[in-house]
Amino acid sequence: MSRHADHSHNVRKVVLPSGKTIEIVSFDDQLVGGLTAPAAPAAPDSAFEDHLHVCGGCGSGLVYPLDWNEAGARHWEVTLRCPNCEWVGTGVFGSEAVERFDAELDRGTESVIADLRRLMHANMEEDVERFSAALQAGHVVPEDF
Ligand SMILES: [Zn+2]
Repeated sequence: MSRHADHSHNVRKVVLPSGKTIEIVSFDDQLVGGLTAPAAPAAPDSAFEDHLHVCGGCGSGLVYPLDWNEAGARHWEVTLRCPNCEWVGTGVFGSEAVERFDAELDRGTESVIADLRRLMHANMEEDVERFSAALQAGHVVPEDF
């Protein structure tokens, strides 16, 4: 049984090296934070660092940063969240891993924009086809305008 049975979430305070305090909220009884996800198979940290966008808990590639702070000259402390399984964790990562993550996030954004453009284009083509069919069938008359 949970000590927080009467609450829907846990709040965990994390003090960053800079002295700043952040709060990590989890909406289940799993303790979050640290370098590994609760359900993660004991994956080596290096593998985890290589793919910050991949959830250590469920394998989803949709992990995104909630917060990041400099932690020394070549490291960043990043709080991550997986929208698929609600995993949230904070870890300190080398700047190379963080740069790769940044590039991966850019790729994700570009991919969403490309999908949106394709969708808009497909919708427009459908509209044009419908309109031209209606014109040919005599369903569109000057009074419509
Ligand atoms: Zn996940």
